[in-house]
Amino acid sequence: MTEIELVVDPKPQQNGDTGRNPNGSPGAPIANPIVDVCSASAYGDLEKLRGFVERDGQSVSNPDGHGYYALQWAALNNFPDVAQYLIEHGGDVNAADHRRQTALHWAAVHGSIPVADVLVQSGARVEAADINGYRAVHVAAQYGQTSFLNHIIVKCGADYDAPDNDGRSPLHWAAYKGYADTIRLLLFRDAYQGRQDEKGCTPLHWAALSGNVEACTVLVHAGNKSELQVKDKSGFTPAELAANRGHRHVAYVLSNAAKINGGLCEDKICAGTIGTTGYAPILLFVIIILTVLFINSVLLGPSFPKVTAVVGLWGWTGVSFAVVSLIMFYRCSSKDPGYIKPNSGKSATRTSDPLLDIDISNSSIWKGNWSQLCATCKIIRPVRSKHCPYCKHCVEQFDHHCPWISNCVGKKNRWDFFVFVCMGTLTAFIGAVTAVHRLWTWSPIIPSSEKWIHLVVVEHPGAILFLGMDAILLSGVLTLAVVQASQIARNITTNEMANAARYSYLRGPDGRFRNPYNHGCRKNCTDFFIHGYINDDEVAWPSLQEAQIA
Ligand SMILES: [Zn+2]
Ligand SMILES: [Zn+2]
Repeated sequence: MTEIELVVDPKPQQNGDTGRNPNGSPGAPIANPIVDVCSASAYGDLEKLRGFVERDGQSVSNPDGHGYYALQWAALNNFPDVAQYLIEHGGDVNAADHRRQTALHWAAVHGSIPVADVLVQSGARVEAADINGYRAVHVAAQYGQTSFLNHIIVKCGADYDAPDNDGRSPLHWAAYKGYADTIRLLLFRDAYQGRQDEKGCTPLHWAALSGNVEACTVLVHAGNKSELQVKDKSGFTPAELAANRGHRHVAYVLSNAAKINGGLCEDKICAGTIGTTGYAPILLFVIIILTVLFINSVLLGPSFPKVTAVVGLWGWTGVSFAVVSLIMFYRCSSKDPGYIKPNSGKSATRTSDPLLDIDISNSSIWKGNWSQLCATCKIIRPVRSKHCPYCKHCVEQFDHHCPWISNCVGKKNRWDFFVFVCMGTLTAFIGAVTAVHRLWTWSPIIPSSEKWIHLVVVEHPGAILFLGMDAILLSGVLTLAVVQASQIARNITTNEMANAARYSYLRGPDGRFRNPYNHGCRKNCTDFFIHGYINDDEVAWPSLQEAQIA
């Protein structure tokens, strides 16, 4: 399969003499790059442009040596005042070069929204196509210009599902290029996922081909799973294409998703049923078995002497902690983890085409992160939310989906989850200490031929079984408790720890990791224990996107 050919990206440097000049000659720094109308437009020098036009009488409608127009250069480098001037002085907004690209195509390359506004107000055709059939929406998708794409969809009604000459929509392009945010926007706007291009490829085929896991995940979660089985004209499904290209992680993710949705029967039992029901019944069974074993074989075991008052106190405290753990287990697995209801994030009222009516930037919870769009629920969600494919909802302050409680851990049940894990640790610890003490202080008359350890196993099989199971449980819950405690102290979620690179709000101006929700260990912990969660409304410092919006 051949690579897709891209629109030309001339990219002249805006800052004068460090790069190649707008007329395209690469090489050494140029002393004075501004020599005519086109170069003045490319560098945004309105003064010199006025001079060329009004004093020297140069035309703004003549192309440069490569056939490109002054308006295209102004659009590429986002100079709205220059574009306005050119149009007022006779520049044709729909003038097309030899590839039939217009100024709007060039504006899409760097996402120059102010120029696009000037062009469209002056009559630029939003649906103008170049020789490859690329419209401005295709170019924006090819370069991951999500804001630009959203702008021309909302403000100009651009057709975001239009095919190019090869039958590829903007969604194909965003998928191929791996721009997950652009994919989110297009799916949020209800772009058609099932479209097959001339080679029979869907957007998922292209995402699989380029090996982008996040792009594949967004597409699979938002789709109806039938696209996992679609074959291209060579007879390959997306998973097979990924495997052929050596993208093993993507192939694994896709074939797993295909198994859960209509694969073999046994696979359904392994992956699907466990996926939705989880292991909560197993954990409940284990806790009850352990409690019964502890009471019957350790505390009241007939082969042990009667418990002393101190050991009895320890033991029965452990049993009552087990009961509290069970109550907390029930609470955190049955409680709403913070599901975001559809519509709650929408600012617009529902009309015939509700998605087009949403002006995202007017939403009160919009913070400038495209990850706030759920392509599956079609909602704008608060920052730090994530869609859970098992619960089929977006969850606020999503931590992780815990199969052991068959529920998500999120804003509204993280406190219960943490208390459950801590109680579990304490209970398992008391149980282990009591059992070890009971066995250690058991002093039978040992025949010389027998070893003590052998006798213990024979005489107290229940206590030994309890100790083994309890040790496994203790190591699990202790690890979880320590991890959760350290994350609560830093006010970060498990999901954010695992996928930090995906979230732009977790990066500072220097591009390095920075958590804006960390208010310091003491405030994080007191807020968490007093309110049950930490409020996101106050951030330690605004994210880059919020600063830009403000
Ligand atoms: Zn969702
Ligand atoms: Zn979940």
